[in-house]
Amino acid sequence: MENCWNEPNDSKLDDLDLLVYQSQLIGNNPDLVLTGGGNTAIKTVQKDFRGLNTSVLFVKKSGADLKTACRDDFVGLRLDELKPLVAHTDMLDREMIDYLMHCMLNPTTDRPSIETLIHAFIPMKSTVHSHSDAIVSLTNTKKKQEILSNIYGHRVPYINYLLPGFSLSKIVHGTIVSNPEAHGIILINHGLFTWGETPKEAYDRHIEITNLAEQHITRALLGKKIFNIKRTPSLEESEAKSQAAILTPTIRKLICSENSMVLTFNMDPDCLDFVNSEEGSDLSQIGPATPDHTLHTKIKPVWVTLTDINNQSLASKEISEAIKNYRSDYAKWYEAHTDHTQPILDANPRVILVPGLGMWSTGKDIRAALIAQDVYRHTIKVIKSATALDEYVSLSEASAYQVEYWPMELHKLTLAGKSGPFSSKIVLITGAAHGIGRAVAQSFASSGAHVFLTDIDAKGINSLASQINETHGYRKAFPFVMDVTDEAQVATAFERLCLTYGGLDILVSNAGIAAPGPIDELDLRDWNKAFSVNATGHFLVAKKAIQIMKTQELGGNIVFIGTRNVPSPGAEFGAYSSSKAAEVQLAKVLALENAVHGIRVNIVNPDAVFEGSNLWSADVRKQRSKAHGVDIHQLEDFYVQRNLLKAKITGDDVARAVLFLASDDSSKTTGTMLPVDGGIKDAFLR
Ligand code: ZN
Repeated sequence: MENCWNEPNDSKLDDLDLLVYQSQLIGNNPDLVLTGGGNTAIKTVQKDFRGLNTSVLFVKKSGADLKTACRDDFVGLRLDELKPLVAHTDMLDREMIDYLMHCMLNPTTDRPSIETLIHAFIPMKSTVHSHSDAIVSLTNTKKKQEILSNIYGHRVPYINYLLPGFSLSKIVHGTIVSNPEAHGIILINHGLFTWGETPKEAYDRHIEITNLAEQHITRALLGKKIFNIKRTPSLEESEAKSQAAILTPTIRKLICSENSMVLTFNMDPDCLDFVNSEEGSDLSQIGPATPDHTLHTKIKPVWVTLTDINNQSLASKEISEAIKNYRSDYAKWYEAHTDHTQPILDANPRVILVPGLGMWSTGKDIRAALIAQDVYRHTIKVIKSATALDEYVSLSEASAYQVEYWPMELHKLTLAGKSGPFSSKIVLITGAAHGIGRAVAQSFASSGAHVFLTDIDAKGINSLASQINETHGYRKAFPFVMDVTDEAQVATAFERLCLTYGGLDILVSNAGIAAPGPIDELDLRDWNKAFSVNATGHFLVAKKAIQIMKTQELGGNIVFIGTRNVPSPGAEFGAYSSSKAAEVQLAKVLALENAVHGIRVNIVNPDAVFEGSNLWSADVRKQRSKAHGVDIHQLEDFYVQRNLLKAKITGDDVARAVLFLASDDSSKTTGTMLPVDGGIKDAFLR
């Protein structure tokens, strides 16, 4: 592991700036901490609200991520009020948190880390705590005492596993007092603390101690094959992906039994090494590596060995059976350890491993599912290293229970990830690069949904996805180039959708083209093109969407973007109006056929959305001005003036209607057309 310290040469940096710099270095190393894990602190002097110098401990607030740490991610606490606590004999978690909240320099609702007192009781200025894979690999072995004292001697003492809290803080303090030469302390099944008189010193020691562990592991792995490939019939990568995509909606159906969830699929080489090995089935069931791992991946993953990987219906049945068994085992484990002060949590697995295919990870949103994936990939690494050294040993079942049902950790999880009315929902939008599709995608993303953006314009959807992901984080948006008229492309896109997010809740079938011209002058190719995009495109996309929704058995919503031209067609726009009428008729038939499956299908009929639209090309503008007998520069105003409300229709107006039809607010509505057109006189003749 590389020491990345390259302190910016800036004399204006204060202690808190250096803490932020140090924290980001730790946070950017996934072999040390994963999202939200680990913490850092510094002891300094600050002026309080009275303007008086006060000793302060700045410590990471609960749930903050070291990777993106900024000054606001650290809470200041009055150190002189924390230190005397070391004389107490015991303190409950609740009392400790209340006490910490009263010591805060600036009262806020942010909680300091549960490990605050460990930092406070270490006498040195700077402290760093990580869940280093290499350190955890050493501690999660049967011969840990021997291994640790061989490598570190008295320089880095260790403490047996204990849930973080007041007692652990006291034990850490006591160990430091009796080992004055120590530079760090190892917590069994948990991680590493180091300290120093400067942030650099604490960081340097962290890297040095981790490096000693890594070197030891590298020597142990030398020439050893830890995971041996099981000789079973296997699929090509692309076949395995297709098979996984087909099985995914069935898995989603099961894991959504209590709350809506998403899942994502992974088959990277390290993951496959483990999943396809002889040893994986036993090793995977031993237990979690650390409390942090438990929190994201639960006590163990589901492991399913399929009888026949090519037999889809049998595979679905076997996976379903395995998930059901997992849930009943989870309930038994809960009953064995609970005192009934905490109700049972969601019993669904966070990780599902299937030899020959790969790994699914699950979560309430893609952020949680990707963290579970990351955490399990690091668990595999820890299992491998610990097995090379000796024999992998996990947290005990009782300790895993204590962690998962610990109010302090439950608090941390509720902080993670903002939600919205569509969080946990998966939406596919066609024609998402411009105009209405773009506005719809942005509105869904702002409401918490995962948006799978398709279009033939790669640049358009790529930039929209980056924009959404920058604002909302964590692969909320995923761009995929798809021509709605090409059945093979549509199939590939839906396969990718399942592997990326796990299924589909809402389809917004929007892609369309304009085809102007009077019928007697219209070229057959233009007529056919209009029908292939505006009618057949909707058919191909809706067909796939319905198949997935029916397998999931979670209902679903489809919103078709029609047009005002359907109830009220315009002259010299025949191919467009006719093909869009076919689309709307298709939507109504889908509503009839799928109501029984709880799938609602509705239509929004907008009028003339110019803003950012690709449909209103220069040619179309020219032709429509001619058809309406208005100057081309007056065209937009013409459309405004012809509606009753004299309203300019925007993409956001249409998006609001789409979100309404896709939400539970319209749960009793299907097969309807909702106009967003400012009101038209002849509408009363409909
Ligand atoms: Zn920790």
